Amino acid sequence: MTAPSVPSVAVQPWAARDDVRITRVRAIATAPEGTALVVVKVETNIDGLYGLGCATFTQRWRSVVSYVDDHLARLVVGRYPGDIEDILRVCRLTAYWRDGGVANNALSGIDMALWDIAGKRAGMPVHELVGGRARAAADTYIHAGGASIDATLDEAEGYIAQGWRHVRLQVGQPGTGSYGAPAIDEPTDAWAYPDGWDVEDYLRRTPRLFAAARDRLGGDVRLLHDSHSRLTPKQAVLLARSLEPYRLFFLEDVLAPEFWHRLPEVRRDSPVPLAVGELATSAATAGRLIADGGVDLIRCHISAIGGFTPALKLAALAEHFGVRTAWHAPGDTSPVGAAANVALDVTSPAFGIQEAHVYNDATHEVFPGTLVIENGWIRPNEAPGWGIDLDEKAAARHPAELSGHDIWAAANRSPDGGVNFP
Ligand code: MG
Repeated sequence: MTAPSVPSVAVQPWAARDDVRITRVRAIATAPEGTALVVVKVETNIDGLYGLGCATFTQRWRSVVSYVDDHLARLVVGRYPGDIEDILRVCRLTAYWRDGGVANNALSGIDMALWDIAGKRAGMPVHELVGGRARAAADTYIHAGGASIDATLDEAEGYIAQGWRHVRLQVGQPGTGSYGAPAIDEPTDAWAYPDGWDVEDYLRRTPRLFAAARDRLGGDVRLLHDSHSRLTPKQAVLLARSLEPYRLFFLEDVLAPEFWHRLPEVRRDSPVPLAVGELATSAATAGRLIADGGVDLIRCHISAIGGFTPALKLAALAEHFGVRTAWHAPGDTSPVGAAANVALDVTSPAFGIQEAHVYNDATHEVFPGTLVIENGWIRPNEAPGWGIDLDEKAAARHPAELSGHDIWAAANRSPDGGVNFP
């Protein structure tokens, strides 16, 4: 057994099945697309047996690295890697004040790495370990966003030609708060904050985008939209009702988490399906979203709720409540996290849709085995574990830095200068 990287305080609470033990735990940050990705590598005393887990909270990534290296590693080194549930509970409950994005992403890195090890030991992909396939592949949606309605629809047509059946549409607005599309450079000097983002402009412009989309793209393509938490409950109802003629697949994040208790009234007042959950930083909060009847699709960033294990439980809860899944996965999810999403997608009867991200060539080099999307479909690897590796030398060529992503929300202000929900 190699020496532990940190003095272990771990207690193996019962006799393990065999002598495999965790010997080293560390967080690795890399930015092959310019955005910090964090993965946790858990090594064992078996030569070549290690696991990888996604711990990507790109806006506060240094804190996640410290949480893993300084606090969790010592609780995990020395443990039998098959006791996933107990290791997670120890890591979570020893903090006393648990949950939150930093803590849960750190836990997720450990959790997914342990599932990776379990799959490698069994010689099975994780999706078979947890019950096996319920479908051949997961259908995905892709983001189209332009400064103008025409530019957005040009991009959407390109994606449809490549095989996508689901496209999220966003259009630019004046002001730096424009979400999911380039901002229009039209400062309004009459405003107290000339570069502000105006919610009334948004509520008028968005239905025009979808009317034009149905005219130009036809009735078959499934259309989606993200409000990114910026509306009041009444504005959310107004927007949903104005979009009803265009038959959205889902309307995402109409309310900030601070107002999630009012989602049931929005859902009651319009038939447009609501997708919520990427800002959940505890599995219990996400579970209450389902149980309280405020969502049609649950879409957590699964590392932010603690990893694959809590997401698996959430998918089971969703299945029994008639809620579908739409796990969060743009470029601020590592390829390991994306593979965990797809394992949930192909095994859960509650699957609704999977958010797509097309990784660049550098990411494929850093993470061999990164999943690819073909004709809009994504399939899991059949290799044991997640089937994703990490080339640490390649990762080191793309060092993570503090970037604009850490602070972009600071520019999202209203015409009066007040900062908005991001
Ligand atoms: Mg979103």
